[in-house]
Amino acid sequence: CGIVGVTGNQNATDILLDGLQQLEYRGYDSAGIYVNDQHGDGFLVKEKGRIADLRALVGPEVKGSTGIGHTRWATHGVPSVTNAHPHVSADGRFFLVHNGVIGNFSGLREKYLADVELKSDTDTEIIVQLVGKFAAEGLDTFAAFRKVLSLVDESSSYAFLLMDKEDPSKLFVAKNKSPLLIGVGDGFNVVCSDALAMLNQTHDFIELTDGEVVIVEPQSIKILDQDDNEIKREPFHVDTDP
Ligand code: GLU
Repeated sequence: CGIVGVTGNQNATDILLDGLQQLEYRGYDSAGIYVNDQHGDGFLVKEKGRIADLRALVGPEVKGSTGIGHTRWATHGVPSVTNAHPHVSADGRFFLVHNGVIGNFSGLREKYLADVELKSDTDTEIIVQLVGKFAAEGLDTFAAFRKVLSLVDESSSYAFLLMDKEDPSKLFVAKNKSPLLIGVGDGFNVVCSDALAMLNQTHDFIELTDGEVVIVEPQSIKILDQDDNEIKREPFHVDTDP
């Protein structure tokens, strides 16, 4: 299973599909992408099976400069198009991909989402529905994401990439126990669970620590620690020449 993301590059769709292809070795049962064109249109495409099957579904209209992609190894809910990521909030505003397991997802559902009709059987969908709920109650996206992260218990593992249709050039990023890197591009940035997925875009990557939240934009990477203090961290260089 794996995660990819990009912002600030007109070839977002190809970058995501090529990146997912590079992550095939990790094993998966389904895959999906969400791409936003920054002009109000977003495209969600999901498929069971191979990346080639997903690629075959992606028409020429699926174009944009920001997007997220996912290969799924099902832990909660059978492999299916509905259970494939990205998952979407009830109001259609937030899109989320997740690797890992949310330990207390059923408790969160009972406590906060009794009135929300869930579309999938995944633990992941609870997270994006909660972000949607807290945003609808008035929190900005960062605060809503932070609040949800604070509710997820320590037994959970996650790499999350979140997008907000109303602020579509940003990727909201967090991890706990699952791998995730930010790749520094020239005028754009990428996110991936393994550098291998993005080596044709960049060789410079920033490592993340559990508990941090990162806001990735085309020209900036803002890393915030647990207390929302900004952290400066230099990228490391991946040399592919032997
Ligand atoms: N637990 C999530 C699911 O079953 C994510 C699985 C994964 O890491 O791919 O959908």
